[in-house]
Amino acid sequence: MPIRKLSLLLINQIAAGEVIERPASVVKELVENSLDAGARRVDVVVEEGGSRLIRISDDGCGIPPDELPLALSPHATSKIQTAEDLAAIATLGFRGEALASIASVSRLRITSRATADGVTAEAAAMIEATGDQVSDVAPAAGAPGTVMEVRDLFFNTPARRKFMRAASTEFGHIHDYLLRIAMVNPHVAFRLEHNGRSVRELPACPQNRRQRCVDILGGEVDEGLLEFEHIDPPSAERSGASGARIWGLAGLPPLARATSKFQYVYVNGRSVKDRNLQHAVKEAYRGLMPPDKQPTAVVMIDMDPHEVDVNVHPTKAEVRFRNPQQVHGLVLTAMRRELLASDLTPNVAPAPGSFPAPGSGFRFPISDSSSASGGTSGGGGASGGKSEIPPEDVTAFVDYFKRMAPAQKGFVYSEVKKQLESQTPADGETSKLETSGGGFRGELPGGLPGGALGQYIPAPTPMLQVRNSFVVTQDDDALLIVDQHALHERVMFEELSQRILGQGRPLESQRLLMPVVVEASAKQAAMVEELTPLLERIGIEAAMIGPQRVAVHAFPTFLFERHVEADDFMRDLLDKAEEGKFDTADANALEEALHKVIDMMSCKAAVKAGDKLSDAELAALLAKRESVERSSNCPHGRPTTLRLSLKDLERQFGR
Ligand code: ADP
Ligand code: MG
Repeated sequence: MPIRKLSLLLINQIAAGEVIERPASVVKELVENSLDAGARRVDVVVEEGGSRLIRISDDGCGIPPDELPLALSPHATSKIQTAEDLAAIATLGFRGEALASIASVSRLRITSRATADGVTAEAAAMIEATGDQVSDVAPAAGAPGTVMEVRDLFFNTPARRKFMRAASTEFGHIHDYLLRIAMVNPHVAFRLEHNGRSVRELPACPQNRRQRCVDILGGEVDEGLLEFEHIDPPSAERSGASGARIWGLAGLPPLARATSKFQYVYVNGRSVKDRNLQHAVKEAYRGLMPPDKQPTAVVMIDMDPHEVDVNVHPTKAEVRFRNPQQVHGLVLTAMRRELLASDLTPNVAPAPGSFPAPGSGFRFPISDSSSASGGTSGGGGASGGKSEIPPEDVTAFVDYFKRMAPAQKGFVYSEVKKQLESQTPADGETSKLETSGGGFRGELPGGLPGGALGQYIPAPTPMLQVRNSFVVTQDDDALLIVDQHALHERVMFEELSQRILGQGRPLESQRLLMPVVVEASAKQAAMVEELTPLLERIGIEAAMIGPQRVAVHAFPTFLFERHVEADDFMRDLLDKAEEGKFDTADANALEEALHKVIDMMSCKAAVKAGDKLSDAELAALLAKRESVERSSNCPHGRPTTLRLSLKDLERQFGR
């Protein structure tokens, strides 16, 4: 085929191919135009998922009649003029391509009544375009602002039309997009209608961005959203940089989801997908959330437009920062600070409706023996074996609390309370303390005191170990249920991190009389040298003593005392290293690797579910709950503690 110039229609259709992927793309382009036009109200009407009709009406500045043909031609825009403008884009659109593209694949009608310098035109004007046919401009009736009607999308591009999904799916995309853009424009009222039915109405709330976010995320999550704000002052070193402003909402860990769909990230009013920022958000929750979960979060960044290039992606979904590290740091710091300052202990709040009705014969599974013993005072009845909830009922206990009727919660609480009172540490515990010292000797990181009797002063707080797994206790205004493993894991994680990362001191280790030898795979053997700086920091001395044999010469004292075997630990560590978990290439990587190793150590050394703890150990563990940072969650982000506030209980008792 000889080389020929493409027709304008084909040029536009090719451009449309990139930008107009589906009906939601049309809505995106048109709503962005409305916002750029300063609209305070945007009305979106859709029929058949947008394949039959998309009509977007706004009350923005409008387009003067003589500019209507230009608006439809490619590479015509009112938003930029020069290369300098391109370097600092303050509008959502700037390529002047959307209307031409949309017209090339649909039947488009624009009706607009312009306002300029405060004067609104007497009447509206109208223009129609289909494929490469453009009508004359004709007078029309219309309110101030612009109405864009797009009919029969992709009617002349059958390939695209075939790719359209069911109307409900396409409408879903439209709905999602509209909510995303509405979130960052609280001063604009939005309305969405599908097939004659009003689906969504978002009144303008110019003073309250949180309100708009909550309107979109759902009122039920309101309490679970922490607001954060951070202002980065302009910096003299970065010439011209005029600082950044970050505002957002960080969802508490229980609002986490399986995907990042509930993360709303904006840069200068534009919704963006940015892996760097996504990473910052995730990182802010490190240790507060299981790694396979994604936080719910809103992050709005406003910065000097010179600092961010928005002209790097066909649909502008991605941007490029001049200094991505800095933005990453700002977001991370702003969120993390707010998260750490908050008590993340989940409240066991009642969810009405999902529990047996009062009098339906349900009895909370606290063992009958405890109620039979009267349980009102003294350790008498319960001190021999603590009154325990049968193991299968422990999860029931927690589950049940979550779903319990207000009135029923009261009953359970009173039962638990009776037990708590009967558990106040009393004399006669001596023998238990003596036998329980072994596992907790020394003042090691995370080690619980308890070896010497003299160290233990009974805490006045009542506590009850339930089936050697959970601890029920109280604070000033709530009943607390603690997962002993999760809490101990967190305590050790924090103390070890503090020691190894914070103070930069290696852990104390103990030399082995006989080295412990571990078989390694060829790949693992090759990695041992690389791992040395990491191993040194945690007090392990290891060396190859054969092509595939690693000898451990020294091992952390603390792990010894927590009965962690050197060979087990080393084998696990090598396995993880082989999976690529412990990269030590540079200081950052080493730090990250140390985090993971500390995590591994804490998990192995922590008390397990099923370990019986003496009262001294319980008291020591609970005391740490107060003093250790982030004690509300284990290092993997699962909660360590559930709390049921007395206020809730009182309300439910009708007091
Ligand atoms: P861009 O948004 O990149 O400038 P478009 O093709 O989307 O390109 O729009 C072309 C021009 O039409 C815009 O620059 C703007 O001047 C005008 N325009 C489009 N939609 C509207 C609207 N809803 N209100 C006012 N002007 C509009
Ligand atoms: Mg545009």
